[in-house]
Amino acid sequence: MVQNFFRETWAEIDLDAIGYNIEQMQQSLPDKSNIIAVVKANAYGHGAVQIAKKALQCGAKALAVALMEEATELRDAGIAAPILVFGRVSPKAALLAAENDITVTTFQKEWIQEVSNYTFSKKLKVNIEIDTGMARVGLRREEELIQLLETIRENPNIQLTGVYTHFATADEENLNYFHEQQERFERLLNIFNRLWKRPVSIHIGNSAASIRFPNKMYHYIRYGIAMYGMYPSKTVKQEKSISLKQAFSLRSQLIHVKQIEAGESISYGATYKAKRNEWIGTIPIGYGDGWIRKLQGAEVLVGGKRMPIVGRVCMDQTMILLDKKYPIGTPVTLIGEQNGASIKMDEIADYLGTINYEIPCMINQRVPRVYINE
Ligand SMILES: *Cc1c(COP(=O)(O)O)cnc(C)c1O
Repeated sequence: MVQNFFRETWAEIDLDAIGYNIEQMQQSLPDKSNIIAVVKANAYGHGAVQIAKKALQCGAKALAVALMEEATELRDAGIAAPILVFGRVSPKAALLAAENDITVTTFQKEWIQEVSNYTFSKKLKVNIEIDTGMARVGLRREEELIQLLETIRENPNIQLTGVYTHFATADEENLNYFHEQQERFERLLNIFNRLWKRPVSIHIGNSAASIRFPNKMYHYIRYGIAMYGMYPSKTVKQEKSISLKQAFSLRSQLIHVKQIEAGESISYGATYKAKRNEWIGTIPIGYGDGWIRKLQGAEVLVGGKRMPIVGRVCMDQTMILLDKKYPIGTPVTLIGEQNGASIKMDEIADYLGTINYEIPCMINQRVPRVYINE
């Protein structure tokens, strides 16, 4: 483990866990469906290049990101696998996409018309996104699909390689809306198949849909949250249909330990007052790292035991209440396992009233990522 940094807080990313989570999904997919590893937002905070490489090693066939910049980062790192950009790419970036063999998402005929003015040296690969109910991006109506296909057909520089949709409620207990979206997709796909004879890849499933309906996912699945070892929702977790290992741990250590007396207070605003003589530890992480102030009162692990955060979280440091004196340098785990105890991403998410997806994304670039089990 090479640590070319000095700070005593880091995110530890277990690449074996990524491999394990991919394998678990592969086991339930029929042969024909393959995995697109979703590595947008710096691989949900895990580090896009490292995760992309690991996923490809483990058999993922392609990568997906949200932004053009995220796609070029992967190409710059020497990754040659197919890359799909989910978001709308500026027409200005179309040439760059074509040159770097980056597949972009399209759903507006005006977009195709605009990029038609460019002189391409390589074909631009596009996937059509159909909005079946997410109402984010994508075309919704039959006429829009027909017109978009006509526009693509008129442009020899554009190569249509895929058609997809995205579910809004695949992780929920009530699946009525999910099934409505499936039906809408099938209806538009039938129209597509009548009008377009060349083969394309069809993909509809995020982690939740793929875990729950592995046999209905067409050619590819888009595997995000579960690849990182987090369940898409409590419902999916309770169904126990897949075993996952959380890859991301957040580690720190005690950089200062002191005793304070009853009545003395801790941190800005003096919001916490000691009830008796107490041992207080300081850890070098704060809201400047994305460890936000709302985490006051949450617990961390020291010696395999839970200790609460006391007083306000500062920009660079956080104080915790210890059960006894510990030496400087004692390991502290904020997320992950320690001596058999564990704090899951879900626990932090629940504490903050949000979803697990948000937590590793929130821990920012000031926290170095260290890879284990490479
Ligand atoms: C983010 C994203 C995914 C991955 O979703 P998970 O729930 O993390 O598996 C799949 N498809 C699209 C279009 C996305 O934006």
